[in-house]
Amino acid sequence: MTSGRLVVVSNRLPVVLQRTKQGEWRVQSGTGGLVTAMAPVLRDRGGLWIGWAGTPAAQARDVELRLAAGVEGVGYTLRDVPLTRDEVDGYYHGFANEILWPLFHDLPSRCNFDPDYWPVYEAVNAKFAAAVAEHAGSEDYLWVHDYHLILLGREARRLGLRQRAGFFLHIPFPPPDLFFKLPWRFQLLEALLDYDLVGFQTVRDRRNFLQCVRALLPGSRVRGAGAVVSLEVPDRRETRVGAFPISIDFDDFARFAATAEVAQKAWLIHESLPRRQLVLGLDRLDYSKGIPERIRALARALERFPELRRNITFVQVVVPSRTDVAEYKRLRDEIERLVGRVNGRFTSAGWTPIHYIFRSLSRVELVAYYRTCELALVTPLKDGMNLVCKEFCACSLDHNSVLILSEFAGAAAQLQHGALLVNPHDIDGMAQALWDAFRMPQAERAQRMQALRRSIRQQNIYRWVDTFLQAATSHQLSDFPVALAYVPRRTEPPPA
Ligand code: UDP
Repeated sequence: MTSGRLVVVSNRLPVVLQRTKQGEWRVQSGTGGLVTAMAPVLRDRGGLWIGWAGTPAAQARDVELRLAAGVEGVGYTLRDVPLTRDEVDGYYHGFANEILWPLFHDLPSRCNFDPDYWPVYEAVNAKFAAAVAEHAGSEDYLWVHDYHLILLGREARRLGLRQRAGFFLHIPFPPPDLFFKLPWRFQLLEALLDYDLVGFQTVRDRRNFLQCVRALLPGSRVRGAGAVVSLEVPDRRETRVGAFPISIDFDDFARFAATAEVAQKAWLIHESLPRRQLVLGLDRLDYSKGIPERIRALARALERFPELRRNITFVQVVVPSRTDVAEYKRLRDEIERLVGRVNGRFTSAGWTPIHYIFRSLSRVELVAYYRTCELALVTPLKDGMNLVCKEFCACSLDHNSVLILSEFAGAAAQLQHGALLVNPHDIDGMAQALWDAFRMPQAERAQRMQALRRSIRQQNIYRWVDTFLQAATSHQLSDFPVALAYVPRRTEPPPA
């Protein structure tokens, strides 16, 4: 392995930028799980993070100066890759979010395969590679993140860079039937082979990738069977391919959930919705999250199981995202129409079935909702991993809550034994799971929640960083076992 630094490359830098009254940029470190987990490694090894600061290219110089001056409390270097408006449109809004995001989330009918996006995606990946060439040393290890930057390894090789490089895909990898629809399928697949290590969230994603390689690049050979396998494709060097399920900083969530500030907020929330079980839904506004299907399932449950009426309140938090895109505006309208319809139909004096919140939450509020809600409905149609379900478990300190989880969340493989798994397209199945969870005895809740918490505590975000970097640094194939894909169980439709 290299003795150099760790160089992380992602679309966005892990910073929050604010404009002061004097017109200058103030830069603060971000707070997500990925940043928290990377920070100690980056500090210890003397690291560097390369990404777009999110500001217009015209202000890049200002931001670069601010970043160069050092960002408070970060402890490693940040480098901005300034992007023009056209680049952001073609590469980010276009290729990444109108093609790769829907296709990789099993929603090909939502793809806009506009051929004009591809050259911009290539050019921006080349621009990121040029930033790597400028700032990274020959002994450094490059860790590239996510679907925005699949071509970075290829572009880096074209520039003659020889550093070892790993790539991690945070979103799902689709099966061949879907992937083959992509007009640039060969280019993307071959570009992934320019990394020494390619990591996926689950064994299923890795299997999909290997199946695509086998079909499109004949003669490939796979060795090993554990968490990391070796892939050899004729005329190319070896690439290692692994499943590394991402996680959260479990102890940090659990500790924060136990603070007096959160306890008080949690109590206030439940006091304002008293004598009932609270069911939490919490998602970024996105069509992959299955929010309309979930609201329909709630309506179905209230219809089929009248005892749920007045005895549950469904708290649906939707965090605004991409609200300037027409498709997301339509999704918001659809959700709000459905919420109105269900509330209009079932509300009775003193009880409204859906408590709907459209905004982002403060950390105290977020953790208080996690802590106080008895049930969580985490039912994406497709999700790379889904961290909300893991955060909910970490904050369920009383072991009295139940997680209802989609089979199509990456987390299902790991959490299948403690959660109630549902097919998010099966409205009756979800209604039934809600009813089962509502009636689940305390002892079973505790047993399931303890198992979930144990698993998430063990496989936390630090372990995720460690296992990826170990796979990156060791020449041996890792044979530690990984959670196998969830195999659907049969459910019966209700009697007519
Ligand atoms: N989250 C947030 N602000 C909020 C509510 C949630 O930043 O108001 C966080 C939440 O804690 C979680 C992340 O957003 O870490 C959502 O991650 P997930 O993997 O579930 O879905 P994604 O939005 O990345 O598709």
